[in-house]
Amino acid sequence: MSILDNRTELTRRVNEVAEVAGYLWQKGWAERNGGNIVINITDCVDEEIRRLPSLGERRAIGTTLPHLQDCYFYCKGTNRRMRDLAREPMANGSVIRITDDCAHYEIIADQEVRPTSELPSHLSVHDYLIAKGSNYKASLHTHPIELVAMTHHRPFLEKDVLTRLLWSMIPETKAFCPLGLGIVRYMLPSSVALAVETIDAIEEGYDVVMWEKHGVFAVDTNIMSAFDQVDVLNKAAQIYMAAKSMGFEPEGMTDGQMQEMTKVFGLPK
Ligand SMILES: [Zn+2]
Repeated sequence: MSILDNRTELTRRVNEVAEVAGYLWQKGWAERNGGNIVINITDCVDEEIRRLPSLGERRAIGTTLPHLQDCYFYCKGTNRRMRDLAREPMANGSVIRITDDCAHYEIIADQEVRPTSELPSHLSVHDYLIAKGSNYKASLHTHPIELVAMTHHRPFLEKDVLTRLLWSMIPETKAFCPLGLGIVRYMLPSSVALAVETIDAIEEGYDVVMWEKHGVFAVDTNIMSAFDQVDVLNKAAQIYMAAKSMGFEPEGMTDGQMQEMTKVFGLPK
């Protein structure tokens, strides 16, 4: 028995997470248990799911998130590998319900797989997104090699330096990652401060945020779109590095060429 049985849309969403988890592993972005995925599945929840009992005890989130009342999420399990989740999403992740006090959660399916230690930060972002009326339902954290490497160079950490550089490497980057790349300076992984700074960067207008010397945090309507944005940005980073390794500074598209993109494709920036 699985919560996915006879639930086409929920199955599709969880399978999409599994597909993305496989890509993260194949790309070398998900060593060991690295990376996290949390998706809001509340709109797939029916009365039968609402009545499912908690597997084990109620657990504290560690913070109160008022907009998550009666919300349901599929979350990667703590210490679980993306490559295992790709094959068996319900053995390496679980469905949780946020309790009425908005400060606890219960694991309801399929097994008592405890969610990622990053759950409070991911849920804080989802709480923010709901408060804003956003239609974004997926959050992704991963370690894309070339993008992380670029954050080891201080000049790249200034506002929108990387955004402009990556956009100028290949036109699609601006078209498919139109809000650019926010930057959050180094902070302790899993810390509240890191979550707060990430939300600040999203508030500033980014949906992909780079954590210095660590990885990327992306939000989007679904997990595949969040992955696509990171993939597109990392491709641009690879083009930059390929040019550098051939011994020259890549020229990049001109400001005029990028403005033309904005106009013709109706891009926000
Ligand atoms: Zn990480």
